[in-house]
Amino acid sequence: MDAFFKQAIDGLREAGNYRVFCDLERHSGAFPKATRYRNDGSTHDVTVWCSNDYLGMGQHPAVTAAMKTAIDRCGAGAGGTRNISGTNHYHVELERELADLHGKEAALIFTSGYVSNWAALGTLASKIPGVIVYSDELNHASMIEGIRHSRCEKRVFKHNSPEDLERLIAADDPARPKLIAFESVYSMDGDIAPIADFCDIADRYGAMTYLDEVHAVGLYGPRGGGIAEREGLMDRLTVIEGTLGKAFGVMGGYIAASATLCDFVRSFASGFIFTTALPPALAAGAIASIKHLKQSEFERRQQRRNVEKLRAMLDARGIPHLENPSHIVPVMVKNAAKCKWLSDLLLDSYGIYVQPINYPTVPVGTERLRITPSPLHTQADLDHLVGALNDLWSQCALSRAVA
Ligand code: PMP
Repeated sequence: MDAFFKQAIDGLREAGNYRVFCDLERHSGAFPKATRYRNDGSTHDVTVWCSNDYLGMGQHPAVTAAMKTAIDRCGAGAGGTRNISGTNHYHVELERELADLHGKEAALIFTSGYVSNWAALGTLASKIPGVIVYSDELNHASMIEGIRHSRCEKRVFKHNSPEDLERLIAADDPARPKLIAFESVYSMDGDIAPIADFCDIADRYGAMTYLDEVHAVGLYGPRGGGIAEREGLMDRLTVIEGTLGKAFGVMGGYIAASATLCDFVRSFASGFIFTTALPPALAAGAIASIKHLKQSEFERRQQRRNVEKLRAMLDARGIPHLENPSHIVPVMVKNAAKCKWLSDLLLDSYGIYVQPINYPTVPVGTERLRITPSPLHTQADLDHLVGALNDLWSQCALSRAVA
């Protein structure tokens, strides 16, 4: 079989899709700085510009202290599945905290955001008799896999298009149960869904709504409840799904919904039932992070400031980037080889780490450097990044945007 494995991997290499890890050591309290290990074992200092620990909460003293305390109190692992000895009081508290964050009766945690989408959507779509799922064409793989696994009937609507969604939903039998699944902030383009329009359609056709706020929780809304909180729409959504692994800086995923829906998923989702619960210390860290971001605007404000500064600095040098209303700054290279070359040189020559984003993650011709400024990047970091991009843009003969 090894020959088969090797051939498949070589195929990825030839297509330019073979993924290589950047071997990093993060240092507590030093975010966004890290040490990079080269293949030969030597090291150098880098500034990370593509972290999904969007606010640096993974290094926040309140979070790390809570995790250390929980390890001292409870030990390392959960000791079982949630149903068989693995439920720790930190899990129960975390679910209360998340339900409160999203204004819902209940929440249910999973071992990752991926598992929460896969398990919750898969369970709802497979167990609700006759349900039709309407899925945005750019939905994350975890949602697509959950829906596919359920073998339900599925319609894919054009990205962020209420018109296309309504065209599809209106053509279906009004008596069939319906579920609309979509995201708020889309991670590659940084665009935001018209949530209110989707909720209006759901009301008109009696559909349930399932919103993935993975790239928005902690970052938007007065208490970090996401775009739905910012827009006053949380009570119009049937299920809000999120991660503890991005802006909250830890790990795990969840849904927030009615107590009955959460109990239903808890009772039927194999991805919840048959797996060891999150370590209590992760739950403790997530609680500290959520509580902090519920009452602190500081991180969100500083992040927005850095995003705006970076956009203005790129504009001043004609370095093209996608305009969007979020914290994600996609610098458009539009060529896979040049994107990889830029990323390699930024890392090796400038100590700047930005992973290239190529096909199949984004369509051919839209290759990019996906930059995620944090509240903790300094003006010197910004100057260094934009100076390096400016040098390499000329060396690479890439076209510049007209200001
Ligand atoms: N949903 C979306 C939209 C995502 O982008 C991701 C991960 N990148 C996930 C879900 C999965 O979340 P997690 O990383 O917590 O598994």
